[in-house]
Amino acid sequence: MPFSCGKMKTERVIMEKITLNCVVVDESDIPTVDMFISEYALMELGDCEVSLKSVTPDEAAEKTDSNDLTALIMRHSDLITLETVKKAATSLSKKNLMGLWILRMEGQKDFKMSCPMCGQKLWVRDSDVNKRGRCPNCKKAFNLPAQCKQVRGLLSMDETQPVCTVFEQSKISLESAVRELLSSVGADFDHLNDSSDNLDDSIYNKATVQVEIQEEE
Ligand SMILES: [Zn+2]
Repeated sequence: MPFSCGKMKTERVIMEKITLNCVVVDESDIPTVDMFISEYALMELGDCEVSLKSVTPDEAAEKTDSNDLTALIMRHSDLITLETVKKAATSLSKKNLMGLWILRMEGQKDFKMSCPMCGQKLWVRDSDVNKRGRCPNCKKAFNLPAQCKQVRGLLSMDETQPVCTVFEQSKISLESAVRELLSSVGADFDHLNDSSDNLDDSIYNKATVQVEIQEEE
């Protein structure tokens, strides 16, 4: 059932108060997200009054109010980060509607992902999405995905579940992410699969390298 906003059974129009718990997956992003969120702590969107709160994954797991929404905030989509996202998501109350927000610096046009074959962390430019990329570590080629699509795939989320890019200091991108969460059914992380079991742990400690682009003939 879609999350409905403002459908009160009283005759007066009453603002529906919603708390949006923002869960920052990577601790190093907490100060940035806290500052950003405190600037726009209260948002009025249609009939909804949304208060944004930054909470830890543990705090979010304890919340049971079914009127709360949860946004998981991540930045890079390498396998370690995605494992942390899965852990945070599965510990949350199933009642809480969820969305996934990908944080980017203002104007940032690239992202970090892991090579699907060997796990090597790779920098991928948005402008190279849909091109054929080659991992400098294992030399294998693969189609470069858009970050949202890659995250959806690895977290087994379908198209109805909100994955939004939020640019630091951009109120517009934050507002549209909140709107999308309000109108969505929320993410269901029930059927997560562990994709990284067979990877060599040492790959996680390697530095991120730029993906190679294969020129078309
Ligand atoms: Zn590789």
